[in-house]
Amino acid sequence: MSDIAGPAQRHLTTAVRVGNVVVGGGAPVVVQSMTNTDTADVDATVAQVSALARAGSEIVRITVDRDEAAAAVPKIRERLDRIGVDVPLVGDFHYIGHKLLADHPACAEALAKYRINPGNVGFKEKKDRQFGLIVELAAKNNKAVRIGANWGSLDQELLTHLMDENARAERPRDARAITREALIRSALLSAERAEEIGLAANRIVLSAKVSAVQDLIAVYRELARRSAYAIHLGLTEAGMGSKGIVASAAALSVLLQEGIGDTIRVSLTPEPGGDRTLEVKVAQEILQTMGFRTFVPLVAACPGCGRTTSTVFQELARDIQDWIHVSMPDWKRTYPGVETLNVAVMGCIVNGPGESKHADIGISLPGTGETPAAPVFIDGRKAMTLRGPTIAQDFKVLVADYIERRYGQVGRDAAE
Ligand code: SF4
Repeated sequence: MSDIAGPAQRHLTTAVRVGNVVVGGGAPVVVQSMTNTDTADVDATVAQVSALARAGSEIVRITVDRDEAAAAVPKIRERLDRIGVDVPLVGDFHYIGHKLLADHPACAEALAKYRINPGNVGFKEKKDRQFGLIVELAAKNNKAVRIGANWGSLDQELLTHLMDENARAERPRDARAITREALIRSALLSAERAEEIGLAANRIVLSAKVSAVQDLIAVYRELARRSAYAIHLGLTEAGMGSKGIVASAAALSVLLQEGIGDTIRVSLTPEPGGDRTLEVKVAQEILQTMGFRTFVPLVAACPGCGRTTSTVFQELARDIQDWIHVSMPDWKRTYPGVETLNVAVMGCIVNGPGESKHADIGISLPGTGETPAAPVFIDGRKAMTLRGPTIAQDFKVLVADYIERRYGQVGRDAAE
């Protein structure tokens, strides 16, 4: 890997164990996601957690908002264990987390981490007491806690205090800078208090989510500069479709490149009835395209242009990509290392042969007016030329053969 692929130096944080996963301390950046089912609906939640885990989510957060949800948590854990899904579960608590965790010890035990928002843990005199109760329960149960401050539910007392202080300053800063400072302080002061109560630093993960990219970058840079707690990165309320994907990728990539972030979530708003696992795929693609981790084989495809008037190459690129994603859960078991495979599907002779040579296996389809032949390159060399109406199917067979040869038992035996 070249020396520009990856951060120059990772911001070193304290490692935190979340179930069977390590977050921070230099461990690979962990992908996490969150369900949108009613947690009290055990069937629906088990199905969605399994789908998210199968898609590659290494930690899954679920809402725990009332007694019925808290009572369902141990049942969900048990059902997941029974079907072999060992992904750690994180409980998302607001307002009454202290009560739910105390009243439902099996829930407190089944979760690997509790997520609490210092702005939503209670108000006035209740705030410190309720925060303290959750932290005590986490310490008692040996669980990690994510202290997740959020722009939309900022600790109002702290914000008012900082605004007043700023108003008295000789050179007051603008209100946005003070709001950012309040968010950072809310997370850091809560972590400090959690340690005072008895929660070790290696049980604390911090986040401070904001919905605007530049604010998020500024807040996390500061959070990392001022502490060594493990950091959960995510742009909150990223939005729907390409807007959410682009905003998350822009914000997270800048911070990851600076070595900031031990775990990430991409908070996409799904289309009604849409696929929740898209957020996992996007998080993996951010990490993989940045060169930090590998999850699935990459398919390089040209954008197409006036030299490709047929849709053959778009269809082939899409088919290969879909086929890879569908096959990955099985391939991971049968073909260790297959995630490093690079495939190229190119539209014409201009860049096709060159790009295909850089891939492990690539095809250059015939553009408009070119001879109806598709050279295939394997390991940088032209291996054959495909012709006729079955080019797409024939190429898929060649990719499958290549995978078997290189990553299957035959390939492993040959390498030994
Ligand atoms: S490889 Fe050919 S079809 Fe693809 S964008 Fe380049 S010129 Fe166009």
